[in-house]
Amino acid sequence: MSYMAGRVAGFGTTIFTEMTAMAREYNAINLGQGFPDFAAPDFIKDAARASIAADVNQYSPANGRLDMREALAAKVAHQYGIEIDPNTQINVVHGATEAIFATIMGLVNPGEEVIIFEPYYDSYVPAVIMAGGIPVYYTLHAPDFAIDRDKLAALFNANTKAIMINTPHNPIGKVYTREELTMIAELCQAHDVIAVVDEVYEHIVFNGRSHLPMSTLPGMADRTVTISSIGKTYSVTGWKTGWTIASPELTTAVFRAHQFITFSTVHPMQHAAATALAAPDSYYAELTAMYQQRRDFLADALRAAGLPPIVPAGTYFMMVDISDLGFANDREFCYYLTKEIGVAAIPPSAFYVNPADGAKIARFAFCKSMEALEEAANRLQKLRQR
Ligand code: PMP
Ligand code: GLN
Repeated sequence: MSYMAGRVAGFGTTIFTEMTAMAREYNAINLGQGFPDFAAPDFIKDAARASIAADVNQYSPANGRLDMREALAAKVAHQYGIEIDPNTQINVVHGATEAIFATIMGLVNPGEEVIIFEPYYDSYVPAVIMAGGIPVYYTLHAPDFAIDRDKLAALFNANTKAIMINTPHNPIGKVYTREELTMIAELCQAHDVIAVVDEVYEHIVFNGRSHLPMSTLPGMADRTVTISSIGKTYSVTGWKTGWTIASPELTTAVFRAHQFITFSTVHPMQHAAATALAAPDSYYAELTAMYQQRRDFLADALRAAGLPPIVPAGTYFMMVDISDLGFANDREFCYYLTKEIGVAAIPPSAFYVNPADGAKIARFAFCKSMEALEEAANRLQKLRQR
């Protein structure tokens, strides 16, 4: 008999762990797992060093260090016009991943349904399952990943507790439009459902578009849990420092779970995050421009290699259409690419309940140095000789 609990027995190893290990083994350029391979900004690293040196080394308050909460409240007020009380509407948590887990554990009762758009970020479904909730799926299809109102409306019922939205969306790069968010907001209000919105790529939106927080739509401020973290915005994915922003009632529910998951988050990183969150507007403009340049470079490189890209509106991920390449599925393609071509990518079937829905696409990350992207572009040319 296995000692493993039934609730985790079906989870397996994450696709990111699998593909990063394969990339290392075959010395492939890792365009799989999404983490920057370049240096994090000095002003943030200096702030972290100073925090540790100043002995910010003991527990923070469980809901987070006050200067970080104040910096976050000031940032969302300045950038989005969102007015929140840093004492009652923020939980600082261990990255967006814990934010997702604590939010679901704090809000979803066993047997309640949570609507999830697939492909989904891989921790959403395990979080719902560990809470005893029931994931209900809306499948987004390539190439446009459009949402049909009637099909989505049909998923809402009296047992629906929450809907999880990720905008900008990993892995498809979709940035939800105002019309789409409004449609979802209306359904949430009609059925008394909470929107859990993962906005970790809020500052990576291209072509001059800007991120639209769900909580700013009419009627949504009190039924939205907004989740984000410093990982993508400040190129420090290993710092795992994130937050939830919500009404005092929802914040308390998340807090009840959070206090017994981690109690509090790494203290010096919160102190450094307060500095990061106070960055001037120019910082975010430069980040977006840096990623737009990489996006355009990778799109050209993929096209030149015979891999038609689905160019993303946001995030640092790009899907390609592999349907004409003769591979049985996305896993076979990504394994071949990593081992034989020397470039690792992620098979998106890992982000669908039915793997067949992701079998004709592959995901590339462009949060990498230009040197790495150029070398990947060279290696991808070998695909032409296949
Ligand atoms: N949500 C999405 C959509 C992500 O891509 C990531 C990145 N891993 C996370 C959540 C987790 O963020 P964090 O590293 O802050 O836990
Ligand atoms: N968010 C990153 C990605 O999508 C990595 C997440 C992870 O390694 N768990 O690639």
